[in-house]
Amino acid sequence: MNTHQSPRALDLLFPTPLHIEEREGSYRLHHTTTIAASPPFETLADTAAQLLGCKRGGEDILFKHEPNLEDEEYRLTISKVQIVVAAATVRGAFHGLSAVRKLALLNDNILPACKVSDKPAFVWRGFMLDCVRHFFSVDFIIKLIDVASLFGMNRFHWHLTDDQGWRIPIDGWPRLKEVASKRTELQYLDGRTYGRMYTKEEIARVQQHAHSRQMLVIPEVETPGHVSALLAAYPEFGCSGGPYEVQDRWGIFDEVLCAGNDAVLDFFDDVIAQVAALFSDPYIHIGGDECPQAEWERCPKCQERMKKEGLSAERQLQSWLTSKISAMVHARGKRPIGWDEVLDGTEEMGLPQDLIVQSWQGVRGGIEASRRGHQVIMSPNTQGCYFDYRHLDSAEEMGNLGVSTLHQVASFTPIPADLDEDAKRMVLGAQGNLWTERVLSSRQAEYLLFPRLFLLAQQLWNPQGPEKNLAKLDLLERYCAHLDLSCYRGRSK
Ligand SMILES: [Zn+2]
Repeated sequence: MNTHQSPRALDLLFPTPLHIEEREGSYRLHHTTTIAASPPFETLADTAAQLLGCKRGGEDILFKHEPNLEDEEYRLTISKVQIVVAAATVRGAFHGLSAVRKLALLNDNILPACKVSDKPAFVWRGFMLDCVRHFFSVDFIIKLIDVASLFGMNRFHWHLTDDQGWRIPIDGWPRLKEVASKRTELQYLDGRTYGRMYTKEEIARVQQHAHSRQMLVIPEVETPGHVSALLAAYPEFGCSGGPYEVQDRWGIFDEVLCAGNDAVLDFFDDVIAQVAALFSDPYIHIGGDECPQAEWERCPKCQERMKKEGLSAERQLQSWLTSKISAMVHARGKRPIGWDEVLDGTEEMGLPQDLIVQSWQGVRGGIEASRRGHQVIMSPNTQGCYFDYRHLDSAEEMGNLGVSTLHQVASFTPIPADLDEDAKRMVLGAQGNLWTERVLSSRQAEYLLFPRLFLLAQQLWNPQGPEKNLAKLDLLERYCAHLDLSCYRGRSK
């Protein structure tokens, strides 16, 4: 029996769990509620006590080690007298804790009795924030990590270098901070500047927080295009030698890294080494998108490089550089990820096999890469994964370049229909990307992210399809209200 005073767990939880069984009664969370944990979950139990406003001690809430469960799987049992989260790993136990938090958040700390058995469909469940086009504070990034992880997301892709700024501190290259980290705002005549670098302490804070929420952080260093800010600081790394500006306009710029200059490779070897030391997780994103080749055609050094390496076309310079940068990433014990243009010009040369390809220009690149044996992250701009796009095709909506409706995200699946079984296994999951050319503040970012990020989280956790997902929009708005998030409340298509 369900009265309005006792909502079912199924009506409160999002993403919808795989299996859920409603039980009689409820458990009331209170500041005297106690938490205990089996050894692998001691630290998580401390986090749980802090997040739920409870204290360590007795076994009102118990995190139990259940080694037979899968990596991210959890079992949650809520009775009138106790809450038990069982999992094999801290990751699994964290998802159980998230379910408890969501029930408490929406129902005033009264948790409906239930039995949940749950695990995610895809291992890569991510979001990207562009912190170059506009700078976002560590406090906001931490807020997003909190919210995304509460809904089962586990990857934060941090876009840190581009034409309009360089935001990673690198020792020994002082002009990155002095020049590349800020730009002159062209719309003002008083020479005011915009932007700054993150400090090493801030980067450590973001990672520490992400790791406490079972989320990996993937830094992105753009190569070989989208490097105007770097070239403004070190013009010798460009084909023409400059002068270059840190751009305050949006688009794709012809100025790219000179593939014929060994000093460029030495610089990136140092950068990758320092980024690998600064970020403890296993991946470094090396960009690779939108790199025009006009300068390479004109540049004697690039032409010389092609001759020396036996390359027949400029587009092969891109794959030559991708191989070089990937090797630097490998040498530091990390795995490279590149946007789908890394497939260009690889007909003869191939690509380093462990390079993960992120498909953004639709799913074409992802399909090709997976057939060629590369692992793939899907974030097709054609299927709702570009959160900088408008929610609706209307000039009244904020957003840039295209449209990603709620319906599209609610229907999205990372696996294209015509993939064969071997290729399917190469698809790790997906990401929603927020580029921020026209996103000036965190409130605007939230409006674009929510509820699309939640819908994507559902599709990566336990795909439901548009009808069931869109029936939950009221619930998602309630979450936004409780979590202090601006969100879009308009039509779904
Ligand atoms: Zn050149």
